[in-house]
Amino acid sequence: MEFSSALRQLLHIPQNVAIFSHRNPDGDAIGSSLAMLHYLEQYGHTVHVLFPSEYPEEFEFLPGAEDILIWDIHTEECKQVLNRKNVFIFLDFNSYSRIDRLGEMVKNLPGTRILIDHHLYPDEMADYVFSEPAASSTCELVYRFITGMGDSQKINPTVGACIYTGLVTDTGSFRHATNSMVYRIAADLVDRGVQDTDIQDRIFNSQKEKNLRLLGHCLSNRMEYFPEYRTALIWLSRKDYEEFEIQRGDTEGIVNYLLMMRDVRLAAFIHNQPTIVKLSLRSKGDLDVQEICHTHFNGGGHKNASGAYSHESLKTTIQKFKDILPLYKDVLTKKNVG
Ligand code: 5GP
Ligand code: MN
Repeated sequence: MEFSSALRQLLHIPQNVAIFSHRNPDGDAIGSSLAMLHYLEQYGHTVHVLFPSEYPEEFEFLPGAEDILIWDIHTEECKQVLNRKNVFIFLDFNSYSRIDRLGEMVKNLPGTRILIDHHLYPDEMADYVFSEPAASSTCELVYRFITGMGDSQKINPTVGACIYTGLVTDTGSFRHATNSMVYRIAADLVDRGVQDTDIQDRIFNSQKEKNLRLLGHCLSNRMEYFPEYRTALIWLSRKDYEEFEIQRGDTEGIVNYLLMMRDVRLAAFIHNQPTIVKLSLRSKGDLDVQEICHTHFNGGGHKNASGAYSHESLKTTIQKFKDILPLYKDVLTKKNVG
């Protein structure tokens, strides 16, 4: 990573910094935000992390998580804090629309903007841009940002635990989107005192009974398989939400079970959240779900993992998804991929 002297100077003098990540923050969003917070605080900056919506319970153990300001809950405090800020850091997203009302507010505030992200096609929204779609995670980029600044010694076990969280969640425990750097970083973090197995245990072995029952329901009653398109779908209705008392984070990862089927190349999870229908698409190999989400559902993300929202009904959204499958039949059924 290349750093201008202006950026170095800026970060070496205490500033009033706001860090943002996207709606429905995942392990990489929260890990990169808290890693950056604990890094910048070592320079004496005053830092706040702001998210549009709540993060899943399994990340509550991360140091600093309890102080994150959530727009949906702490709206007034978010507004007050933002008016004092002069540096804005955008992590794990690349368009103001991904941070909803926070975006509308920040877009008009004076200040220096820094973007660190690994999603495709970033908007022009920052003065300093570290955008690398080939990176495993934003946490990988935050690690490289800190080391690039010459600050490896500031990666203490707290910063390291946060970085490790994003590495392990965005790669599905080192199963996809990996590169040689990921393993080097993980090794370095362990050398620096990060309790890797403890973190994995806290994140992945923290499910409640109702989560496993919900998974069973999804696989037994809500799964559809279209072998002619090598595609599988799971959907959940608003009634399912009530029956299983689904809360933030409870449906995270369900879509990945579909990819475990040998012949599946495209996996979809379509669910009716309280106010909106959410789609999560995953793929194996060449199939670009970013393009599908962008073209048909106004969403985005990565080539093999993307998402979108729909304001239409669950039924209409599911039908729309099924209707587009023939458009991708060639790439879905092509031999020797996935
Ligand atoms: P998920 O399906 O887990 O919500 O998201 C998969 C990936 O797509 C994540 O990297 C996420 O940031 C991105 N993503 C999810 N929903 C949207 C969306 O509505 N718009 C865009 N641009 N990206 C999304
Ligand atoms: Mn990410």
